This record gives sequence, C-alpha cells and structure tokens, in this order.
Amino acid sequence: MTNNNTYFVANWKMYGNIADINRSMSVIRLVNQKKYKKKKIIYCPPYTLLKHFYSKVKNTKVSIGAQNCHSNSEFGPFTGFINAKLIKSTGAKYIILGHSENRDAGETDLTINKKIVSALKENLKVIFCIGEKLSEKKKKQTQKIIMKQLTNGLRGIKNIKNIIVAYEPVWSIGSGVVPQNSELSKNIKYIKKILFKLKIRKNIKILYGGSVNPKNAKELAQIKEINGFLIGGSSLNPKKFIDIINKSIN
Ligand code: PEP
Repeated sequence: MTNNNTYFVANWKMYGNIADINRSMSVIRLVNQKKYKKKKIIYCPPYTLLKHFYSKVKNTKVSIGAQNCHSNSEFGPFTGFINAKLIKSTGAKYIILGHSENRDAGETDLTINKKIVSALKENLKVIFCIGEKLSEKKKKQTQKIIMKQLTNGLRGIKNIKNIIVAYEPVWSIGSGVVPQNSELSKNIKYIKKILFKLKIRKNIKILYGGSVNPKNAKELAQIKEINGFLIGGSSLNPKKFIDIINKSIN
C-alpha cells in the first residue's frame, strides 16, 4: 500500500444506529490530525443514517457513502427504492455498487452497469465491487470472473476518474479467511491488466475487501498494488477501525 491517498471504507451493511455514529466520532476526530492528511476515510451506513451522519462529518475530512441505489436515475414509481439523486441530496459523496451480497440477491452485471452510469451522472464516486465465489475459485475461474465483471460493469463508462475498484473475493467476506498476499497481488495485477485492455489508462485505485481486521491489516497492507481497504464487520467497532488504519499506515 502506498502512503498517498489510501482509502479506508467502512461498509456498515444493514447495521448501525445513532449511538454507533456517536461512537465513531472518536475515529473522526482522530483522523483529522495531520498524520492522516493523505488518507480517505469513508463511512457507508444504511440509507436512513446518511443525512444524520453527513451532518456530523461535514466539516471534517471524512466522507459519507451509500451502499447501493436503484438503476433509474430519474424519479419514478419504484416503491421502496432510492436512486442516486436522492443519495446525493443527503450529502453522500460515494456509493458502493456491485457488492456480492447484492449480486447474490439477483443483481446482474447489466443492472450494476446501469447503476454505475446513474451514480456517475450525479457525480457520486463509485466503489465498484468485484470478486469470485469459492466455487469459481475452486474451478480456477477467478480471472474469468474478474474479466467478466469488469468488462460488463464498466461497459460504456467514460468518467473513469470517479471509479474505484474493490476486489472482494466472496469467500473472504465475513469468513475470517483472507487470501495469501501472493494470490491477492496476482489478482490485483490481473485487474490492472484488464483495465488496461479496456483502454482505461487512468490510474484507477484498487481496494481489497474481505475480513480485514486489526490482526491482518499490517500484513495485507504490504501489498503495494493495493490502495486501501473496504471493511465490513470490523468497521462498526471504532477501536478496530482505527487500529486497522494505524496498522496499515505505520
Ligand atoms: C464487505 O462486506 O464489503 C466486507 C469486506 O465485509 P467483511 O469485512 O465483514 O468481510
């Protein structure tokens, strides 16, 4: 991990409340120190907390992001959904799209591509998740999956500077199992190769996500191709989250 512009993205999934936001203020105060100047800290809480969370961080270096959106960027009859325009209006700057938990719930590469287009239209920065399942890894299909998800997800996308790729092997999410550094490094290099093939010459940031915790952060941060972490479970605990940040940068 280089020391410049490294990302620490907290994915709160379907957890969190006002008390958790208040508890996270200790992290937010800390990362405002000079030492963290080049770090980007982004909290992605459930939709209902976006606006409140934003009001707490708006004068700090911390940003807020959403975890998904509807693919239609215009308002419309979509009961129970929220689109990129509504997300933008909360003060959120980022959005996670293509998370495997949403792919599992039926989201396709095509829908994800539409969501990315709609989020970029609203000037949101997209954290685009890709990664293979365990069964695919066992069949040695990791590269095939990475290529398919990147090619389809980024089809026709011009505003590449607002895309961050998060490589999250599905088998490592919430499992406590992380890939070996050599495997991770190989897969991230492959992602870069595909991006190059897709004529994406911009230096896209690539994050790793999957069971990052204070115990493995230092080791994972040795991988120089990684520009940060997407952190689920450990990010709701302020002590663990700050520990991960400190262990990654020291
Ligand atoms: C995630 O949900 O994006 C994630 C990385 O989760 P965890 O850190 O809990 O594995």
